[in-house]
Amino acid sequence: MAGGRDFDGYSLMIGRFQPLHNGHMEVIRKCASESERLTIGIGSAQYSHARENPFTAGERYLMIHDALEAEGMDNFFIVPIEDLNRYSVWVSQVESLSPPFNTVYSNNPLTRRLFSEAGYRIRDSPLYNRDVYSGTAVRAEMARGEGWRALVPAAVANVIDEIDGAERIREISRAD
Ligand code: ATP
Ligand code: MG
Repeated sequence: MAGGRDFDGYSLMIGRFQPLHNGHMEVIRKCASESERLTIGIGSAQYSHARENPFTAGERYLMIHDALEAEGMDNFFIVPIEDLNRYSVWVSQVESLSPPFNTVYSNNPLTRRLFSEAGYRIRDSPLYNRDVYSGTAVRAEMARGEGWRALVPAAVANVIDEIDGAERIREISRAD
């Protein structure tokens, strides 16, 4: 491309990161090492203060930023992306918000299908210790006690403490 970038080596990975945990970190490290630039899309960005989605997009942004900075990584972009609940326009929504990318890392069949139909290169993102490392498991531990701290990077635990996140989860998971 004359005088410009071809964005080959620019990749995308999307999650809700409620919150960012050690399983996400493994896959982010792999994607970032294989990519010139990695865009991390924060999905369901409009939701917060709900059981499945306790943290705001801004809080999740800070968790991801601080955890990657603590690892010495600097080849990433972070982009909050709201759900549209219309799969036919999902790829366009992501394209309108993200820096350009050529490759999508995902093991979600719908994500893979939508982006491959739109012409993107799809790469596997392997699951690490999925029975231990999932957002659902971390949130359950946060409602219960202190066990969640072992499941997330230290920088994420710091942000959660700063925003009193464990107490938020305990309150919103209490029945009326
Ligand atoms: P939740 O239980 O809240 O759905 P989650 O752990 O599935 O959380 P999401 O925020 O939904 O995480 O992000 C989804 C993506 O994160 C998945 O498509 C997967 O690629 C990646 N991911 C989640 N857990 C792991 C893991 N243990 N190892 C590698 N990648 C993971
Ligand atoms: Mg999930």
